[in-house]
Amino acid sequence: PVRVRFAPSPTGNLHVGGARTALFNYLFARSKGGKFVLRIEDTDLERSTRESEEAVLRDLAWLGLDWDEGPGVGGDYGPYRQSERNSMYKQYAEKLLESGHVYRCFCSNEELEKMKEIAELKKLPPVYSGKWATAADGEVEEELAKGTPYTYRFRVPKEGSLKINDLIRGEVSWKLDTVGDFVIMRSNGQPVYNFCVTVDDATMAISHVIRAEEHLPNTLRQALIYKALGFPMPSFAHVSLILAPDRSKLSKRHGATSVGQYRDMGYLPQATVNYLALLGWGDGTENEFFTIDQLVEKFSIGRVNKSGAVFDSTKLRWMNGQHLRAIPFEELSQLIGEHWKSTGLLTESEGPFVDDAVQLLKDGIDLVTDSGTALSNLLSYPVHATLTSPEGRPIVEDKLSEVSAHLLAAYDSGELFGALEEGPAGWQKWVKGFGKTLKRKGKSLFMPLRVLLTGKLHGPDMGSSVILIYKAGNHGIVSPQAG
Ligand code: GLU
Repeated sequence: PVRVRFAPSPTGNLHVGGARTALFNYLFARSKGGKFVLRIEDTDLERSTRESEEAVLRDLAWLGLDWDEGPGVGGDYGPYRQSERNSMYKQYAEKLLESGHVYRCFCSNEELEKMKEIAELKKLPPVYSGKWATAADGEVEEELAKGTPYTYRFRVPKEGSLKINDLIRGEVSWKLDTVGDFVIMRSNGQPVYNFCVTVDDATMAISHVIRAEEHLPNTLRQALIYKALGFPMPSFAHVSLILAPDRSKLSKRHGATSVGQYRDMGYLPQATVNYLALLGWGDGTENEFFTIDQLVEKFSIGRVNKSGAVFDSTKLRWMNGQHLRAIPFEELSQLIGEHWKSTGLLTESEGPFVDDAVQLLKDGIDLVTDSGTALSNLLSYPVHATLTSPEGRPIVEDKLSEVSAHLLAAYDSGELFGALEEGPAGWQKWVKGFGKTLKRKGKSLFMPLRVLLTGKLHGPDMGSSVILIYKAGNHGIVSPQAG
């Protein structure tokens, strides 16, 4: 059965790279009817915190990547935090010591430093060259009796090579003569990261290890441990790096890189998931819009790209707009209305007003949070001031003056308001009459009107905009501080 895992180290926030790894694991599990396991890799006790773990879990849940086993939900292969699995690591370390795959190394740090220096001078790879790999039992007994501290060191075969068949990269192989014997347990009894991961993946019956490319060197060591313990090897898939637009490794200096930041900026989880999936994956068509269910249906690990994927925040924003407009209208209107209320833009909730405003503005925004600026831009335009003060008229005065004079009259007499009170039909009728009086129609009528009434050359439907501005002012729906 397919069992995959996402194994975050709780030392910070969930960043987009981690989220994409989690997503690919999730999609793989769901598309194969397998299990998605969450394991917390908190062996680095100094850097790991519970707050970070909680933040990571919260962000995964927000994305909708629910796990079948792990913290909060349990499962048959727990515990799911490495810090709670120490006895298991000890047990397997002893097993490897007994079978001779591991030996006790009594070298002091100074000795190890010396070896490194010598290797560097001789331009040799930094492989362990101390005597403990081949020490006689008697020598070991002697050090044990003296109480000399020791590490558990893994005995790497001195020749040959190791091959894995990566589901994304194809065959990857390493020559073993450059791989030094490595420590799996420190002298204070703390197991080392690579060892923990192997024991966990094996005892949690993980079938496919899907993780970032930067873990490839770990895979080599982990594969050696698998073999030594006699566990069946899982399949591996190493996903490429996420790059910044300048093709360097994506980092904080490139702007927002954590999932939580995007949530706080008003991004939708479904858009974030869709965008993350496209970082290195596509279904082979031009289509870029996917719901999570469609992703589950289409995902295949073989289609994941070998080369790095560029993180493009502009595209993510665009993608959010696509998903925003895919939300059923009633829901969208509610979502945006709530945002307007919570930011103090609306002084009271008026269903029909919100619906009209959302209908008018939705095509021009990518984020829920954009809708605030869009609405206040529309509503805070000082129509009357523009009509009465020539300096207030921003654009090509001479073309506007005639229209503006008549408009001011219609404004001051209340004629325009009367028409707007009747809604779209009233506006239509009024505009027609207004054009007749002025002997203008089409662009020469609508351009100046739009500029004078909305302050802009372009925008959503003018009649609806003007009605909305009127309603907002007349019914006190919008707070005077809007904008
Ligand atoms: N804990 C590792 C990390 O956060 C992941 C290790 C793995 O997937 O094997 O990078």
